[in-house]
Amino acid sequence: MIIDCHGHYTTAPKELAAYRQTQIAGLSDPSSVPSRGTLHVSDDQIRESLENAQLRLQRERGTDVTIFSPRAAGMAHHVGNATTSLHWAQVCNELIHRCCTLYPENFVGVCQLPQSPGVAPQHCIEELERCVKDFGFVGCNLNPDPSGGYWTDPPLTDRWWYPFYEKMVELDVPAMIHVSASCNPNFHTTGGHYINGDTTAFMQLITADLFKDFPTLKFIIPHGGGAVPYHWGRYRGLAQDMGRPPLTEHLLHNVFFDTCVYHLPGIEVLLKVIPVDNILFASEMVGAVRGIDPETGHHFDDTKRYIDAIPSLSAEDRRKIFEGNARRVYSRMTTPAGRR
Ligand SMILES: [Zn+2]
Repeated sequence: MIIDCHGHYTTAPKELAAYRQTQIAGLSDPSSVPSRGTLHVSDDQIRESLENAQLRLQRERGTDVTIFSPRAAGMAHHVGNATTSLHWAQVCNELIHRCCTLYPENFVGVCQLPQSPGVAPQHCIEELERCVKDFGFVGCNLNPDPSGGYWTDPPLTDRWWYPFYEKMVELDVPAMIHVSASCNPNFHTTGGHYINGDTTAFMQLITADLFKDFPTLKFIIPHGGGAVPYHWGRYRGLAQDMGRPPLTEHLLHNVFFDTCVYHLPGIEVLLKVIPVDNILFASEMVGAVRGIDPETGHHFDDTKRYIDAIPSLSAEDRRKIFEGNARRVYSRMTTPAGRR
């Protein structure tokens, strides 16, 4: 079985965007009282939105299950306030739950959190619990920068985040550290802000002893770990200069990397540098990069091809990357799609 641990519902019916526009318009209308409102989307619309996109690509590329979450750039936690984010997260998560219910063999849910800049993350516990307990979701996407490119909240190692981590540990769910849209014009969302976010999060983790306090807390750093594998020597050296233990001991019991790296040499570096037990297969389809690579004739985000193209990987290592590690990290995967 091949589990893709990183997919977003980027093809949701247009009613979802219209819902969000209405919500945002209400923010600047003094007479509007924030209410959750209702999203009207039929099951057929959901089927249509998935059949010719994520489901077709799963079939064509030979993957089985996608760990599926709302569109990451769409989370936009900087918009409005905590109530805005709560309503938006609830609506998006309920839509993911409907996808997973319609296609239990193909999707397992991961939730968006109702984060908001300056609002303590413990505010997100209730929605996490609802998604895990009521919907059978297996993880969450945690935004290390709800401000959208201005980094106004404390680092991930700060006690600010601890109540939320306690709940993650209690529920035994991992978080993918995933920023959302950038509203800082210096940072292109997927090209700058995403990779910055991944790299910044990893460096934050080096500087503290978060996993001494939470030995079973699990994070996935997406997009191949940002710049981290390529600069592994720098991070090992910085850790050493700071008197930290070697990174394998300090972080790699708790931190994992996905394979959303869109060329073979990048995947080769990832596999050479990061232990195979810490790598989870992922493609982030559909949408981060949509085109075809003229050098290969295949989609940039068809990441299974890159793993397949590495002959030195043993069958056991390949199985770990494609399935075993995801089952270990997303340990609640017991929904139909997660069954062997
Ligand atoms: Zn993503």
